[in-house]
Amino acid sequence: MKVTVIGCSPAWPNAGGAQSGYLVEGTRGRLLLDCGPGVLARLRNGGGWPEVDAIAITHFHLDHWGDLVPWTFGAAFGPGRRTPKPELWLPPGGADRLRDLGGQLSFADQVERAFELREYRSEDAFATAGFEVLPVPLAHYEELTFGLRVSDGRRTVAYSGDTAPTPRLADLARDADVFLCEATLSEPEPAERGHLTSGEAADAFEASGARRLVVIHRPDELPLDAGLERAYDGLELEL
Ligand SMILES: [Zn+2]
Repeated sequence: MKVTVIGCSPAWPNAGGAQSGYLVEGTRGRLLLDCGPGVLARLRNGGGWPEVDAIAITHFHLDHWGDLVPWTFGAAFGPGRRTPKPELWLPPGGADRLRDLGGQLSFADQVERAFELREYRSEDAFATAGFEVLPVPLAHYEELTFGLRVSDGRRTVAYSGDTAPTPRLADLARDADVFLCEATLSEPEPAERGHLTSGEAADAFEASGARRLVVIHRPDELPLDAGLERAYDGLELEL
């Protein structure tokens, strides 16, 4: 299993960066976790149109799904016309939400031409692209949000998406080979929580028993403790 960080910016892009997108490749398929702005262009760097078997979206904040919009245009009218449609796995209610957004942003007609729409269920593992994917509900303001645990039966990567501190994070990453965990904040939010500090990410990692923590969704302006590994766009992890 190989994991490539396509983009790991927070809710605004780091300089030259793409927003959330993590490509998981195995012997039986390719799975993209989230598809934020900047991800599609990066996936096209080799030329042509990206060939992925599936895309899974953690939640509907734009930095995690925004490039699905140009994806529908390229798949319907552009160089993606002859590329097989990937499965698009969305949170519960996500298919209607995407169609509704499509109605407002003029891409509704292309959604079904671009993707095979699927909805996952909370804590109900699904199979796609040769992987088993377990969606774990997390705590991200009022937004329905999931972390995704991806396994090929031998190796496991856990991806936090966006979340406040919650014991579920340790369950998500339990004994995983790699834990991609957000650390957006320098200090905890004073009221409603939706993100982690690097200390909170490290605490979740410790509690999980995972082997390697890679910090994502971190603004470039925020320094990171010397003992922590920070993701960068293009980072490749062999599991
Ligand atoms: Zn978010």
